[in-house]
Amino acid sequence: GIPGRSVTLDDLPLRDALRGKSPYGAPQLQVPVVLNTNENPHPPSQALIDDVAKAVAAASEELHRYPDRDAVGLRSDLAAYLSSATGVELSVDNVWAANGSNEILQQILQAFGGPGRSAMGFVPSYSMHPIISDGTQTEWVPAYRADDFSLDAEQAVAAIAEHRPDVVFVTSPNNPTGGSVPLDDLRAIIGAAPGIVIVDEAYGEFSSQPSATALIDEFGSKLIVSRTMSKAFAFAGGRLGYLAAAPAVIEALLLVRLPYHLSVLTQAAARAALQHAPETLGGVAAIAAERDRVVAALAGMGYDVTPSDANFILFGDFADAPATWQRYLDRGVLIRDVGIPGRLRATIGLPAENDVFLTVSAELADTDR
Ligand code: PMP
Repeated sequence: GIPGRSVTLDDLPLRDALRGKSPYGAPQLQVPVVLNTNENPHPPSQALIDDVAKAVAAASEELHRYPDRDAVGLRSDLAAYLSSATGVELSVDNVWAANGSNEILQQILQAFGGPGRSAMGFVPSYSMHPIISDGTQTEWVPAYRADDFSLDAEQAVAAIAEHRPDVVFVTSPNNPTGGSVPLDDLRAIIGAAPGIVIVDEAYGEFSSQPSATALIDEFGSKLIVSRTMSKAFAFAGGRLGYLAAAPAVIEALLLVRLPYHLSVLTQAAARAALQHAPETLGGVAAIAAERDRVVAALAGMGYDVTPSDANFILFGDFADAPATWQRYLDRGVLIRDVGIPGRLRATIGLPAENDVFLTVSAELADTDR
């Protein structure tokens, strides 16, 4: 048998805060149409694959050495990209990178959260925010969105004034509901916050709203903008997240990061992929157009669809969302049950995948609502 198999989680001296909690768990199933983790459906081009392979081969000559601990070349490239994408001039000193924006968020909480401190988010939002809070012993304080899932800035400011959280998460566009937060609402929230505000812009490239990077100069001691190459950049498998903030924020993160956290292979592959930004991001407009097509088709079937600035949509109203999720899966379409009663989330895929999704949606429109 497997050594140690008789030991259960209950037998372990686990921290109390982690008892009874569930790990992050989007199912990874082999089905024809996978629309459950908000990836970019466009596979990398052959030119990008070739350049990544070349860069990784060259970097492999240095595998006996530790990588650049501070990833200066990669951060310079990211700063150049973000400057051109957002119109806000950022330097290498404004940018930090890690293995996915989840690691970015974890490092931020290691530095600015922790025992005796709290983090607030406006739910429903990204499920990892409370999980990373638990993992860093930061008390999680949920505040709430309006009934239509929009973020009411006045209510957000009131919740911040009441709880005085050390860290505030604002996800824009919000996962799983899709809406962005306008800059003036962000200004009000950052102004009210006693500590750090993380604007999680994982889906920023899909949004028509300006990036919060425009506010870094105004709110340097409080604002961190988190980004990722997992979504618009079609680099989820490469694991590269980053942030923009005042240089002092990056100095703070150097205190908690593990040395050499970004391998030479990751740094080389990410830099090669970034060189293809114009072509990769060309796909963003196609995804947005597909999103608008899917939203219109679902609305035509009588579904209630939450307005989305991202590459996914939240829709319903289902009598029994978990049962409907299973019926999509039975028909070869994997979408996401994010735990919101009556609602399911679907990532926008390739046109043919969206067609299958819409065919199943039409089939279930009469029976499942
Ligand atoms: N933030 C949000 C809002 C997300 O939806 C995700 C991915 N689902 C992430 C952060 C983390 O993505 P990654 O670690 O791949 O950068």
